[in-house]
Amino acid sequence: MMLIPDAEHDELVLGERPLIVCDIDEVVLEFVTPFQAFLMDQGHELRPTSFRLNGNVFSLAHGTETPHEEVARLLEAFFAGQDDWQTPVLEAAHSLERLSDQADIVFLTAMPPRHREVRRRLLSRHGFDFPMIATEAAKGPAVLALHGTRAQPVVFIDDIFVNLQSVRTHVPQTLLLNLIANDAFRALAPHPGEGVTIAADWPHAEELIRAHFDAIAV
Ligand SMILES: [Mg+2]
Repeated sequence: MMLIPDAEHDELVLGERPLIVCDIDEVVLEFVTPFQAFLMDQGHELRPTSFRLNGNVFSLAHGTETPHEEVARLLEAFFAGQDDWQTPVLEAAHSLERLSDQADIVFLTAMPPRHREVRRRLLSRHGFDFPMIATEAAKGPAVLALHGTRAQPVVFIDDIFVNLQSVRTHVPQTLLLNLIANDAFRALAPHPGEGVTIAADWPHAEELIRAHFDAIAV
């Protein structure tokens, strides 16, 4: 059992095989689409005009921009009640289940650890029975702590540029995949940067991961 600093996590025991570290929001659980629905329910609207939340949330009653502190409060309320709102991303559970024949899978979410239990239940409800790490620390050092100097292939999947580049810095041999579930936000997203491959959806991600494992198998 290894320990990741500043994180809460399930028991982690890695086998002598490839490792897939996978983000949750917008990758295996829909985030933007249900958060839009939640905001509507709370009298706000998320207008996807750029790849961010702040500055794109508006009051339905007044048409004015919702202040950042209020967006933060709404996000906190959304995560507290996430099991009423978030749904699985199409094909994610099937792809991961198939990949788990060949690789260990660990979820790495940037969610505050206080929401860990509700998220754990939500994941298990949708068939995502893999260990989860919840931490607000940078993802690169977390992947390094997990994988260390092992020779096995390692894959990291995330929707956010900064997270992908953090892992690229700390574990440069990682296959980095950018996956964004929401169509409108995917269209608005900046290129995830050098060394990152864009996966259109889960079947595409699965294909890229298998090809990577085949290419470096000894
Ligand atoms: Mg995410």
